[in-house]
Amino acid sequence: MNFDQMFQTQLDALKEEGNYRVFAELERACGDFPRVKSHSNGSPDEVTVWCSNDYLGMGNNPTVMKAMMDTVAACGTGAGGTRNISGNAHHHKLLEAELADLHGKDAALLFTSGYVSNWASLSTLGSRLPNAVILSDSLNHASMIEGIRHAKCAKVIWKHNDPDDLDRKLAALPANATPIVAFESVYSMDGDIAPIAEILDVCEKHGAMSYIDEVHAVGMYGPRGGGVAEREGLMDRITLIEGTLGKAYGCVGGYITGSHALIDFIRSFASGFIFTTALPPAVAAAATASVKHLKESQWERAMQKRQVARLRARLDAEGIPHEHNASHIIPVMVKDPVKCKMLSDILMDQFGIYVQPINYPTVPKGTERLRFTPGPLHSDEDIEYLVMALKTLWKQCAIAHAVA
Ligand SMILES: *Cc1c(COP(=O)(O)O)cnc(C)c1O
Repeated sequence: MNFDQMFQTQLDALKEEGNYRVFAELERACGDFPRVKSHSNGSPDEVTVWCSNDYLGMGNNPTVMKAMMDTVAACGTGAGGTRNISGNAHHHKLLEAELADLHGKDAALLFTSGYVSNWASLSTLGSRLPNAVILSDSLNHASMIEGIRHAKCAKVIWKHNDPDDLDRKLAALPANATPIVAFESVYSMDGDIAPIAEILDVCEKHGAMSYIDEVHAVGMYGPRGGGVAEREGLMDRITLIEGTLGKAYGCVGGYITGSHALIDFIRSFASGFIFTTALPPAVAAAATASVKHLKESQWERAMQKRQVARLRARLDAEGIPHEHNASHIIPVMVKDPVKCKMLSDILMDQFGIYVQPINYPTVPKGTERLRFTPGPLHSDEDIEYLVMALKTLWKQCAIAHAVA
């Protein structure tokens, strides 16, 4: 058996489709974000990041960094194993209390990532609850899809952001079904926001559990960063709220919040919680500082809104097509994988602008795009420079079209 040959055949197929993933090699430098050092071939030494999920620059926040460094100095590096064996670090409990408070819930449970929190929670709910049926929005994140798959329970896919379709599908379930409705608030590829209140109306009508992923909203929406559900006053109607500490909070880790019984249930049965080493105490302390900071501070959220609106307005003024949505995510549609990758390469090499192409299978074929996430640390000059670069490339692309 020539295994390398087998691997290579599939890699070659990816390359042929234009869907082979190439990662930039970057080095973040404290205090310079969104400017980073680039180690990628052919790019300038310094580039500006336009697609980070460190949406508010909290990964460079002095308070958050100090919390991490102080805790390493006080407690060392690792957690020493699973919580099952090594016990709860005091810092884990403090962070869980902070997160439960953020979402107005009884309790919270930490995981090593948002991916693991979705995977472990949905697979545990789906496999343990009698007659469980998970009703999943058609555009749910891979971590939810994998969790549902692993649950091996019945599943139903409902039309993206369509409460009427959900209503019909819930109505069609057998009377003894235990329905769990899984969806996101902000969908990160299109940047659209779920009609949460309408979805909850439907859940309540059918007695279904509601499970929301607020990964792309926590820290950024709501007066204390509790997400879109906080902004809309809906948190108390949701059974389980899931989030990440790795994006707007600038650290790493994932979590769920809910009732005492729900959290104790997942803690007691979820393999993905029990059998893996807990987050380092220093990470928990940094995340706590970040969550606390964003409960109080409005500056980051306000500046992010301002810069998002500014980039949208400038793109409109220059006729560069982008999706109009109600979030902080600005997808510029290219609709061709090869061209999308090429635009991204030119932006990086000739303009020092880093934006990763978003291709299949992250998004459906034919909807390839560049996805911009302006933040509080992008200056007005950064925005002007980006728009100038896109304008130049759009002109060149149009010429390429005409010749072809
Ligand atoms: C990134 C992401 C996750 C996973 O969170 P991590 O903390 O990065 O593992 C979960 N859900 C959605 C919608 C995401 O985009």
